[in-house]
Amino acid sequence: MQTTADYSCAYCGETSTTFIDISAGFSQRYVEDCQVCCRPNILYVSIDEETLEVEIQTDYEE
Ligand SMILES: [Zn+2]
Repeated sequence: MQTTADYSCAYCGETSTTFIDISAGFSQRYVEDCQVCCRPNILYVSIDEETLEVEIQTDYEE
């Protein structure tokens, strides 16, 4: 099962959309390059198990 969610880039603040594979778990962490400035963001994805609402925190890739 896959869904999409928006996140704000940790570098430029622009909003990007990411694909999330819910079957990979309700708490995920992966790196994705910003679609605007191409810098790598660490995405901390948390998915509500009941509503499947997605929340994403971003951080700088060290
Ligand atoms: Zn960016």
